[in-house]
Order: sequence, then structure tokens, then C-alpha cells
Amino acid sequence: MSNTQTPENVVVIGAGMVGLATAWYLQERGVNVTVVDRDGVAAGSSWGNAGWLTPALTLPLSEPSVLTYGLKTMFDPASPLYIPLSAKPSLIRFLLGFARHCTPGKWREAMAVFSEIGATGLDAFDEISEANAVTRIGRDHAAVGGGASGSGGGTTTLGTGVSEPTKPAEPFLTGFKSLKDRDGLLHEFEGIRASGGQVEFDLLDAADIRAMEPTLGDGVKAGVAIHHQRFINPPKFMDSLADSVIARGGRITTDFEVADIREHAHGVEVIDVHGRTQGADAVVIATGAWLGKLARKFGVKRVVQAGRGYSFTVVPEVMPTHPIYFPAQRVACTPLGDRFRVAGTMEFRDADHPLEPKRIEAIVAAASPLFTGINWEDRQEEWVGSRPCTTDGLPLIGATRSNRVHVAGGHGMWGVALGPLTGKMLAAAITGESTPAVMRHFNPLR
Ligand SMILES: Cc1cc2nc3c(=O)[nH]c(=O)nc-3n(C[C@H](O)[C@H](O)[C@H](O)COP(=O)(O)OP(=O)(O)OC[C@H]3O[C@@H](n4cnc5c(N)ncnc54)[C@H](O)[C@@H]3O)c2cc1C
Repeated sequence: MSNTQTPENVVVIGAGMVGLATAWYLQERGVNVTVVDRDGVAAGSSWGNAGWLTPALTLPLSEPSVLTYGLKTMFDPASPLYIPLSAKPSLIRFLLGFARHCTPGKWREAMAVFSEIGATGLDAFDEISEANAVTRIGRDHAAVGGGASGSGGGTTTLGTGVSEPTKPAEPFLTGFKSLKDRDGLLHEFEGIRASGGQVEFDLLDAADIRAMEPTLGDGVKAGVAIHHQRFINPPKFMDSLADSVIARGGRITTDFEVADIREHAHGVEVIDVHGRTQGADAVVIATGAWLGKLARKFGVKRVVQAGRGYSFTVVPEVMPTHPIYFPAQRVACTPLGDRFRVAGTMEFRDADHPLEPKRIEAIVAAASPLFTGINWEDRQEEWVGSRPCTTDGLPLIGATRSNRVHVAGGHGMWGVALGPLTGKMLAAAITGESTPAVMRHFNPLR
């Protein structure tokens, strides 16, 4: 590939939502893709998250009250926002940058960007699932090592789309212990409308919301029903997306931890920690909270800080049918079919730090008064994952100093909802097609 040509072969580093969606959209434009991951599909934040595709709640983290609240509570291990006292210099840099963005003016600026995105994030989900559904294939055969192609694993007919559906959250519920708590969310909705966004909702009293979800307890005194939102089952969706990428001729190479990327006259070479190499015309770094390590060398200076969240699943006596959010407690709940996922916490610390059981206990303490008929001791799938957070709350999407090295990441709380749209925009940019105007905000070199 010359510097101005469309690449024929691209390596995508990171098999999370963002990396796989970028691979999918590159394939749509005729590019051969190899996705490599240090672990496997959805090994990072894309597995245990809440799976909400909720334009009404896709708001920047830098809400001014987060700063006031954070300063009061951040060193308390039981609070939803936690920062260990032994913060590293990069974390301190991130926190100072983040604090600078926690002003009403900066929040409105970031909000305007999310409003500009609007429901186009959902449209991209429709696009990747519209093509024929894929019959599940033996990805374990097809994915590992070099021989990956759509023909692995004794398959039946393969189509091209993602077969796992997005589900309408009709309505998406938010619950509150008091009317005062609810005012905070209504204030954010005013902000969305003021910046040109749309949100349609109804107010619910205690009886209304418990009639919709009998698993909610007496502690819930008010609610809001938000319309036109969706959700996914993240593990199933990610498997389905990976299957689709393979079915379309892509390769997914697991246990390939990239240590370096080298550019040469005719392409790029990706080198793993064991010295194995993978060549291509171009590379996309989609390594979530680890993005800075590989991207810094190519001029990406923004810190991408791990904002770690935790989740687990339980089986309530009456299984909820709607996703439910408790903004004041920062607890996010999602029905995943036979289990109910409960998630929360924002813990700014190293992405590779082990799971802290205290953080799970803090979520249980916050969530349990809000429900009835749940055995909180009988938890499974305890998980920690790292939201890739930037100081200005906006992702990094596009070319770096090198036009062969691209990045896609830093979506913070919303990398699932915005993953397919990100893949679509970046694939267009890499193949020289026009990109939506909103992409100007995501320049990785800003
Ligand atoms: C509790 C919780 C709830 C959330 N809920 C939602 C929600 O409801 N909706 C929403 O939109 N978002 C949600 N998020 C955020 C969302 O999960 C993330 O923004 C998104 O998953 C980021 O995707 P990604 O592909 O950028 O990163 P990841 O999914 O983290 O993927 C990065 C991948 O890169 C790999 N990798 C890293 N370094 C290397 C290397 N050197 N070489 C090779 N591979 C490497 C990792 O193994 C990993 O698989 C939530 C997050 C948490 C923690």
C-alpha cells in the first residue's frame, strides 16, 4: 500500500467491542482483517458490562456533581467512586485533567457531541445485524493461532451478520429512594434537550414502578420510564460478533500480546511479547484501557485511564424484564435471560490490579435495600473490567502521527453503545471514504 492507498490487510489489536466492530466494518469495505488479542474475545471491559444501548443516558462522565461527590467520597472503599491513596503519577495527571473538565461549560460541550451522535449508535447495531444471521460456528477451532477462517469447526451455512439481537428496553427504568434523587436525572435530561438531544420519558410513582418490576423493594419511592432505549446480553453479543467476523473471512488470534508496533516503508509489523510477528498494511490499536501503552509512540498523548467497574449475577425469585438503573447509588442492572446482572463502581486504578472483593460487597450493600426476593449471597460471575476513560470524556478515533497506525478507544462508560458506530467511522476513514462531521471531536492527537 502506498501512503494514499486503501490497505488490503489490517491488523486490529484488541478483540473487544470496539476492535471487533472495526474489523467488521473494514470487512464491509473489502479489507482482510486479523484481530489479535492478548487473551481472547471480550477479555476486557466488553464482557461483564451492563450492555445498555441508551442514547438518553450516554452522557459524559465529567458531570460537575461527580467532582463534588468524588472529593467527598473517593478514598472510601465503600463508595461507588474509589481511588486508592497510592495513586500513580499517570493517575494523578488523569484526575487533574478530569477535574478541569468537570465544569458546567465543559460538560455542556461534551454533551453537545453526544447529542450530535444521537441514535446513530443504534443504527450501526441494526446494520451489523441486518445481513443474514450467522449460524454459530466452532470459533475455538477457527480462532486460535494461524488457521482461522470462516470454514473452521464443522459449520452449516454462514451468513454475514451478527445473529444475537439487541433488545428493546421498553421502557428502560430508573429507580430512586426519593423525589430529590430523581431531580438530579431530570436536570441531566434538561441538559440533553438544551444541547439538541432527545429524550422521551414518563415519571413513575412507587406503585407504578413496582407494578412493572415486582422485584423492586419498598426502598424505591419513585422512578422514570425512558423510552426508545435498548440493551444486549454482552457475552452473547460479543461471541456472535466474533463469529460474524470469522464467517466473513477474518482471523482472530488469541494469546497474542502485542509489545510493539513497527512501521517500515511498505507497511507495519506487530510484534508480540514472545517475538512473534504479524505484518499488515495498517494497524488499529483498540486495546481499551491499555491503549496508551502502544499508542503513545505514535503521538497519542491523552491518558486513557482504567475506570474499573464490577459486576456479578444473581437469580431473583421473579426475574426482572427491564434494565434498571439507580443513579444515586450508581448501580446498573440488566436481565440476561436466566440471570440478572448487577454492576457498579468507578475505581480509578491500574487495569491489571486483581478484583477487590470489597468493591463487590459495596455494590451488594447499595443494591440490596432496593430489591426483594434476591439471595445476595448466591452470586456468580463476579467480574472486574476497565472502562477506558479520557479526561474530556470523548473517545480517540482516527489516525495517529502515522497514517498506517490508527486508534479506536477511550469510550469510557459507553464503548459498547458506541462500538459499532466507532468501527463504521474508523473503517470509512481508513479506506479513504468520507466520515461524519462528528468525528472531528475524536482526533486522537488532540
Ligand atoms: C461495570 C461496567 C458497566 C458498563 N456498562 C456499559 C453499558 O451499559 N453500555 C456501554 O456502552 N458501555 C458500558 N461499559 C463500558 C464498556 O464496557 C467499555 O467502554 C467497552 O467495553 C470498551 O470496549 P473496548 O473494545 O474499547 O475495550 P475492551 O473491551 O477492554 O477490549 C480491549 C481488548 O484489548 C486486549 N488487549 C489489551 N492490551 C493488549 C495488547 N497489548 N495486545 C493484545 N491485546 C490487548 C484486551 O485483552 C481486551 O480484550 C461498562 C463498563 C463497566 C466496567
